[in-house]
Amino acid sequence: MVTQDAGALVLFSGGQDSTTCLAWALERFGRVETIGFNYGQRHIVELECRKEVLSRLRQRFPRWSSKLGNDQVVDLGLLKDISDTALTRDVEISMGTNGLPTTFVPGRNLLFLTVSAAVAYRRGIKTLVGGMCETDFSGYPDCRDDTMKALQVVLNLGMEKRFVIETPLMWIDKAETWRLAERLGGEILIDLIKEHTHTCYKGDRSQRHDWGRGCGTCPACELRANGYKRYIAGPAIAAVA
Ligand code: ZN
Repeated sequence: MVTQDAGALVLFSGGQDSTTCLAWALERFGRVETIGFNYGQRHIVELECRKEVLSRLRQRFPRWSSKLGNDQVVDLGLLKDISDTALTRDVEISMGTNGLPTTFVPGRNLLFLTVSAAVAYRRGIKTLVGGMCETDFSGYPDCRDDTMKALQVVLNLGMEKRFVIETPLMWIDKAETWRLAERLGGEILIDLIKEHTHTCYKGDRSQRHDWGRGCGTCPACELRANGYKRYIAGPAIAAVA
């Protein structure tokens, strides 16, 4: 089903969430481009995974292959220079004194969306798609629905455009994200996500679990593993009134 001709630009990191968002966009738009960011992540493995995921999506899904266009990785190394977080430095992953996890990179999503909008402007794309999510997340303020809606207004005012920011995962949990992937691309997509997407904060790909590769103990691995367990167990049965 194609609902937009002006295309979509997907913020694609090579993780489970953004891969599901990419499949979501490929089902809806006639042209889909991808953008990734190199911001001095401690573990560059994410950027390697995204190439592999793109190549396998093209191989395994002929109906998406012709729509999947330009991919670019933008260097935002300045984030590493100006921030001090567990994702960019060797800092322990924990809860900071300000109530935010040390994995929070201030301004990251704001910068990603702004750069994406600038790229979309140049490429004539109307819709930006991101995997931001308020549900069972670590409380990142820049993943909130209100932040995204406010940013959409700012980008449209500041660039004199009518961008739409789509966040298909905003109100679903990790089990539902697996279910969404299954609805979009069946077992083939589930297997591809398990094997080739990367979530682990520690960059570990040496250990293989039923939900994919990762250390199995960092917050990102735990979230992914718990979601997968609940996905495999099947949807919760609605309580009888
Ligand atoms: Zn991990």
